[in-house]
Amino acid sequence: MTLIKSISGIRGTIGGRPADNLTPIDVVKFTTAYARLIKDKNRGRRITIVVGRDARISGSMVDSLVEGTLLGCGADVINVGLCTTPGTEMAVITHKADGGIIITASHNPRQWNALKLLDERGEFLSDAEGKQVLALAEEVDYDYPTIDHIGKVILREDFNRKHIEQVLALDLVDVEAVRRRRFKVVVDAVNSVGGVVIPALLEELGCEVVRLNCDPTGEFAHNPEPLPENLTEISEVIRKEGADLGIVVDPDVDRLAFVMESGEMFVEEYTLVAVADYVLRHRKGNTVSNLSSSRALSDITARYEGCSYSAAAVGEVNVVKKMKETGAVIGGEGNGGVIFPELHYGRDALVGVALFLTYFAGLNVTMSELRASYPAYYASKNKIELRPEIDVDNILATIKSRYSGERVNDIDGVKIDFAECWVHLRKSNTEPIIRIYTEAKTMAEADALAKRFISEIEQLYKA
Ligand code: MG
Repeated sequence: MTLIKSISGIRGTIGGRPADNLTPIDVVKFTTAYARLIKDKNRGRRITIVVGRDARISGSMVDSLVEGTLLGCGADVINVGLCTTPGTEMAVITHKADGGIIITASHNPRQWNALKLLDERGEFLSDAEGKQVLALAEEVDYDYPTIDHIGKVILREDFNRKHIEQVLALDLVDVEAVRRRRFKVVVDAVNSVGGVVIPALLEELGCEVVRLNCDPTGEFAHNPEPLPENLTEISEVIRKEGADLGIVVDPDVDRLAFVMESGEMFVEEYTLVAVADYVLRHRKGNTVSNLSSSRALSDITARYEGCSYSAAAVGEVNVVKKMKETGAVIGGEGNGGVIFPELHYGRDALVGVALFLTYFAGLNVTMSELRASYPAYYASKNKIELRPEIDVDNILATIKSRYSGERVNDIDGVKIDFAECWVHLRKSNTEPIIRIYTEAKTMAEADALAKRFISEIEQLYKA
C-alpha cells in the first residue's frame, strides 16, 4: 500500500485507495501533469509521446490509461507496447518524439508499477521538470481539449527489433567475431520483456541460448532484483549445461548481471567495469559512475593513459549529467547499468551484452579468468533505521567534519575514500533511514568498516 512520488516519476502498488496507491485515478492525474509539461514546452504545435511497458501483469491496464489520457490531453501517441526501458528511450529518439512514458516498476515485485517520464532526448526528466510535474499533478482544474483537439494513436509498433539492430550496428560491436565463438548462454529474464529481447539479440550474435524464466507473463519467478540471493537457479543450469556464461536482467532490462561458467556471480558491479575496460581500449576518454559504485572502475580507468574517472550523485539522471560534463565515453551505475553514449544516454542491458560479448570473444579466457584479472573489491550494503525526529543532516555533517582530513565527497550524502576502502553514507528521501555502503579488499573488512560507522552514528544520535 504505497505511492511514492518523486522527480523521476510515480511508483506504487496496484489497487486500494487513490493517493495511497497507484490507482487508475493517480495514473490519469500524473499522465495529465506530464502531458501539460510537454505541451507547455512545445506551445503552438501538436506533441507526440512514445509509450512502452514491461511485462508486468498490470502493464496493459496502466498502458490503456496512459494512452487514453495522453489522447485526451491532445497528445498524439506512438505505442511500442511490450518494450524495454532502453528500447522505449531509443523509440523517442528514433521517432523524434517530444517525450516518452515507460510503464515499469523496474526491479520491484509484481504488485508494483510506475511511470518513468522521458524528455525529447529519450532521457529522464531533469530535476526541475520532475518538480513541475509533481506541482501540476496537484492542480485539479485543468481544461482538457475539446473534440477537435484530442490526440490520435499515430503508430503501434514493436520497437524491440529496431533497438536490437541499432545495438548491432554500433562500431564497437563485432557481430562476426561473436558469431564465430558460438557461445552457449543461459538467460534469466524473470518472465518479463527481457525474455523476448535478450534471446533475440543473442541469436543474432550466433549464441546458443538456454532460456530460463523467459516467458513475458509478468509472473516473476523470483525476486526480480538481480542480486546473488535471487539467482540460485541460473547457477545450477549453467553448470548442468556447461554454458560459457549466464545473463540476468531486471524486468525493464536496464540492469545487467553476468554469471560465470562456474555458476558463481561475476558480480553486477563488474558488468560496467568489464564493458568499460573494452570501450577504453578503443575510445580514449573518461568514465563516470555513481558514488556508491565500485572503485574498480576508477582503477581500470587509470590503466588507460589520458583517461580519468569521475563520480556522480546516485541516480541515472545525475550520472548522465556528469557524463556529458566530462565527455565520458562510457559510464553507468554499479548496479549493472551500462550507459554508452554512442547509442544513447540511458542504461541499456542490450548495449552491455553486445559490447561485453565482443570483448569476451576477443579474449581467450573463461569468465572466471577474466574476473580474476580485475581488482577484487567487496561491498557491504547496510542501513540504520532512525526515529523520524532524529536530524539526519546533522549526523552526516558531524561525520563529515570528523573525517575532514580524509578524501571526502559531499555531493550526495557523505562519501569518505580511505586508502584501501571507502564508506558512503546517504539519507533516504522517502524513509527515515541512513544507507551505509562500504567497499574493501575483503568482505570481512567491508563488514567491519560498516560496523564501525554504524556504531559511530548510533553514538551520535544517542548522545
Ligand atoms: Mg530497471
